[in-house]
Amino acid sequence: MAAKSYRNLKEEVWDQGLCSGCGACIAVCPADALHFPARDPGTSPVSSGYCKEDTDGVPCGACVAVCPRAGDRAPKRMLGEYREIWPARAGFEVPRRQSGGAVTALLTHALEEGLIDAVVTVAEDRFTLLPRSVVITSREALVHEAGSRYQWWVPLLASLKEAVVARKYRRVAVVGVPCAIQALRLVKESDHQLVKPFGRSLRLLLGLFCTETFDYRILVEQVLGKEHGVAPWEVKRLDVKGKLEVTLDGKPALVLPLASLEAAVRPGCHTCTDLTAVDADISAGAVGSPKGFTTLVIRTPEGKAFADLALASGRLVKGEEEVDLAAIEKLAAAKAKRRRKM
Ligand SMILES: Cc1cc2nc3c(=O)[nH]c(=O)nc-3n(C[C@H](O)[C@H](O)[C@H](O)COP(=O)(O)OP(=O)(O)OC[C@H]3O[C@@H](n4cnc5c(N)ncnc54)[C@H](O)[C@@H]3O)c2cc1C
Ligand code: SF4
Ligand code: SF4
Repeated sequence: MAAKSYRNLKEEVWDQGLCSGCGACIAVCPADALHFPARDPGTSPVSSGYCKEDTDGVPCGACVAVCPRAGDRAPKRMLGEYREIWPARAGFEVPRRQSGGAVTALLTHALEEGLIDAVVTVAEDRFTLLPRSVVITSREALVHEAGSRYQWWVPLLASLKEAVVARKYRRVAVVGVPCAIQALRLVKESDHQLVKPFGRSLRLLLGLFCTETFDYRILVEQVLGKEHGVAPWEVKRLDVKGKLEVTLDGKPALVLPLASLEAAVRPGCHTCTDLTAVDADISAGAVGSPKGFTTLVIRTPEGKAFADLALASGRLVKGEEEVDLAAIEKLAAAKAKRRRKM
């Protein structure tokens, strides 16, 4: 069987418009040969032209091993397998939380108790709203970066290389949208020699529910800036609830129907069928829980341990109401159906 290289990704994923932009291939490439150009990132990575496999004939294929869009790897389950599902909130003040602040509470507990060394996640520049992937190691930074970046996109997992290779962290938690979590589950389960060091360093996969994400340049610069005269520093909060709600500083909120934002949706999202991050240890979303709470889906023994310890510490608080499973399943089915149509 012919060896696989980035050329397979190019033909089967990049050129087909399937790339989600998760950045996993960039993280594990031992030659640092894949990247998104900084000025014009496009929709998929580019290669420098050098490749261990193609150029030197040294067996590699690490990039193909971790790509969630190579082959037939799309999850086929709506809510996925889980042990428990309940509403939760942080037991302390998280001013910028998106839902109940439960994600920040779980991560803060894990960092403060030394269960993890670092968190790989997506932060944003509060002035320009430009998202960036970061490695966080303090409670203060976690609380400061709470909230959802819908104007993702950044190749989040590219920062995994910084955490594991440059900073040598061996107990890393990653917060990611479902496509990133799918890639990380492949990383964790891979027996590829070049991928294993990354897999061994992953301790907690925290998935965020996701219907779609928007391209920064189109959403922030074009739609908000040029079409609606909104500067990024005026935006206090973005929220997607069947429509995009933009809370503004000193002005009435702007509400945009999702249908008007089709052009801003990342192409790779059009073929995505996973709403709830079925490959995560714990998934978190807004739908299904009352206002001020996060829906937590506890999927694995490791996820349960992290959640139970955070609850016992009081940093995470369980809500009393039942989660509305039908509401989650309805949204998951709507996403899967929309994608099949595309
Ligand atoms: C692009 C996107 C789409 C979403 N779509 C839905 C949806 O359709 N339905 C739904 O119910 N929920 C959706 N969510 C999840 C929801 O917005 C909240 O993230 C979730 O409820 C957790 O809330 P929280 O208050 O517990 O998180 P917080 O305590 O506010 O913490 C959020 C954490 O997520 C990290 N983060 C923010 N943006 C990203 C990102 N893009 N990638 C990786 N990490 C990130 C932050 O750094 C922070 O650590 C979406 C989230 C994102 C990022
Ligand atoms: S989906 Fe992720 S791993 Fe696959 S090619 Fe795109 S960025 Fe790389
Ligand atoms: S819709 Fe799917 S591909 Fe797009 S960002 Fe969300 S999880 Fe990734």
